[in-house]
Amino acid sequence: MSARISIRFLGGAGTVTGSKFLLAAGRETLLVDCGLFQGQKELRLLNWQPFPLRESEIDHVAITHGHIDHCGYLPRLVKNGYRGAIWATSATCDLMKILLPDSAHLQAEQAEDANRKGFSKHKPALPLYDLNDAKETLRHLRTVKYRQPQRLGKAFTATWHPAGHILGSSVLAVGVERPGDKPLKLLFSGDLGRYNAPILVDPEDELTRADYVLVESTYGDRLHEPFEQSVERFAGIVRGSAERGGVLLIPAFAIGRTQTLLYLLRELEEQKRIPSLPIYVDSPMAAAASEQYRRHSEDYDEETLEVKREGGTPMLPRNVRFCSTREESKALNKVHSRAIIISASGMMTGGRILHHAIHRLPKPENTILFCGFQAAGTRGRRILDGEDEVKIHGALVPIRAHREMLDGFSAHADASEIMRWLANLKTPPKQTFIVHGEPESSSALADRVSRELGFASRIPKMGEEIELS
Ligand SMILES: [Zn+2]
Repeated sequence: MSARISIRFLGGAGTVTGSKFLLAAGRETLLVDCGLFQGQKELRLLNWQPFPLRESEIDHVAITHGHIDHCGYLPRLVKNGYRGAIWATSATCDLMKILLPDSAHLQAEQAEDANRKGFSKHKPALPLYDLNDAKETLRHLRTVKYRQPQRLGKAFTATWHPAGHILGSSVLAVGVERPGDKPLKLLFSGDLGRYNAPILVDPEDELTRADYVLVESTYGDRLHEPFEQSVERFAGIVRGSAERGGVLLIPAFAIGRTQTLLYLLRELEEQKRIPSLPIYVDSPMAAAASEQYRRHSEDYDEETLEVKREGGTPMLPRNVRFCSTREESKALNKVHSRAIIISASGMMTGGRILHHAIHRLPKPENTILFCGFQAAGTRGRRILDGEDEVKIHGALVPIRAHREMLDGFSAHADASEIMRWLANLKTPPKQTFIVHGEPESSSALADRVSRELGFASRIPKMGEEIELS
């Protein structure tokens, strides 16, 4: 009798964060992604729930990409006894070396904050993990190359394929051994990127067969503005800001979005569609991530490789400076006109962007440009919604700057791009599990998958375990 094969949805089910999928073949287990729950308090509390089996009993961990909602729980897993290898692409490992220690700092800050304000039930409130746990986790990392199958124990073979979402991001194909039968094949989409976006290769279209698919549905009910249209509007916004003699302030995620913006600014400059302006990237994490984007050319698409082959620097516009120290950041207050400042965080929930906002938002010649989703309740959302003033560091800041929004630079596939990727499967999988989405987007995608592709689809519940055959 062959071993029972099952999958358990421990996160990224009914929500976009906390991705964790536990695959079991008999007694051998593989955890695909190990993400932190983020966002509202009810979600963050899930990070404190005990794992359904002892961490020391998990045999293998495979990570699709370096975003914290896919790998940020790893230090907790290691703290609680996981001793095996953590497999990921080389670029993902390098991004985790930046992100996991940073996440440990944030955990420490949150615990300190809870202690100061006394709003935790636990006295003293402890961080989920600390810097030592993050460092210990990095010792477990093992790198893989795209498209090279990696044997994991007796039961599993995993192969990473480009997903085009962020540097190192992957779709994971997992084969599960079955005595006397072909291996059972599962596809984990991870987060799918865009087709024809700059820098990275497109999501791989060569994956044509799977018994089961887990597909993300972040934008399962929406379409993005076409990329070229966003680029055209971006160029117009840069020109407008320069003509007014103002400063263009862009809150941007440090990993992925910042590098896309730098690539586009370099290209638009070369095409003379925008003037060459001083550009300041004010985020230590964006600087560190940009360094990895420069190093890992194995992830580049043909156009980016071409720029590099011709001796160019794909993500360095002519006049760019990375600010690392606080002093360099503060010195930017002396820049009065015709410049671009890119800073984090992308939704203005914290980080250096805040002191720039205090300085720039009150002046009508300036522009604030959002180029990513702004969640409800964040400062970014309130500014976009047209509020006259916004509270930053306890003071009310009047907003007289121009406000702009571009949604075409998202790192996530939209509904039609997810459908395009799924349509590569030549025979319908036995089941398509719709994961990593808010309930409305997941059910919209599930409908389309059944209606347009004729695939069986199912939205698994958090904690649910499903037998596979
Ligand atoms: Zn992601």
